[in-house]
Amino acid sequence: MKVARFYAPGDIRIEEAPEPSAGPDELKLKVHNCSTCGTDLKIFRHGHHHIDPPRVIGHEIAGEIVEVGSAVDGWQPGDRVQVIAAIPCGECPDCKRGWMTICPNQRSMGYHYDGGFAEYMIVPHAVLKVDGVNRIPDSLSYAEASVAEPFACVLNGQELARVGEGDTVVVVGAGPIGCLHVRLARARGAESVYLVELSRQRLEMAAALVKPDAAICSSDVDPIEEVLRLTDGRGVDVVITAAAAGKAQEDGLKMAARRGRISFFGGLPKDNPIIACDSNLVHYRELTIVGANGSSPSHNKRALELIASGAVPVDDLITHRMPLDGVLDAIHTVSTGEAIKVTIEP
Ligand SMILES: [Zn+2]
Ligand SMILES: [Zn+2]
Repeated sequence: MKVARFYAPGDIRIEEAPEPSAGPDELKLKVHNCSTCGTDLKIFRHGHHHIDPPRVIGHEIAGEIVEVGSAVDGWQPGDRVQVIAAIPCGECPDCKRGWMTICPNQRSMGYHYDGGFAEYMIVPHAVLKVDGVNRIPDSLSYAEASVAEPFACVLNGQELARVGEGDTVVVVGAGPIGCLHVRLARARGAESVYLVELSRQRLEMAAALVKPDAAICSSDVDPIEEVLRLTDGRGVDVVITAAAAGKAQEDGLKMAARRGRISFFGGLPKDNPIIACDSNLVHYRELTIVGANGSSPSHNKRALELIASGAVPVDDLITHRMPLDGVLDAIHTVSTGEAIKVTIEP
């Protein structure tokens, strides 16, 4: 079979590999869709400290079961499934409290285990153990189901930031994650959702799809002034930064209303994670700053349901479909910002 393997920064090879077979406590999938994201681009450029190469990458996985290990219950060949990316241990104190997104023993598909940029792949026992395989509702395509993983992370972020009925929300960053945040905020009852983005082209493409109440190009206007203008000086209830920029986080603190919540959804570059924060702003305005680290198996299940119910459509966000041979093109397309979601169809 064909796979896309990461060897070193700048070195991902499409190559032949023996087709795997499922061990007694594993499943084998025929991968139908594995979507790409900024993380794949990061891995391609810099590698990742959790990846011990060579490794088949790809973590936004949807496929069809073709082999069921003898000790696995509940699954049949032919079942259509979506697979979690972040694998909590299920046993540590954090997992026991239900905080699976911050499990310190977390492992990941495409990092510790071979991922979905392959014609076939193995779902390891570690995934099955934490109920990390989800049936795809009949109404959803494999491509849509593959977006459940990034969407699950968005869901975790908005739960932690308590986005709800009547909120005004700013989303900073108009990539696929920013688009999903706009749609989810609306589905959760937000009254107004504003989208902020540096690139005019990316902003226009995203705004045409997700139709925010205002699309703010931060290379043309000061986004803080614009948000304050739109809210009569009050600021917004929630700011979500879906951009790897300290400036976005610093600006976010200044856009928040009293009692506002600021989600540092996107992480910052490892070598530059320090921002300037006026602590008195947080103190006197009773602001809440929250993080967000991936998603739990239960977020993946609920993400699939939200997509299937029509509350958060994702089909139109999938702008590019490419074969497995095109993984490098796909990663390049992600880097140019000209796509929303690029999916690989092995
Ligand atoms: Zn991803
Ligand atoms: Zn754990």
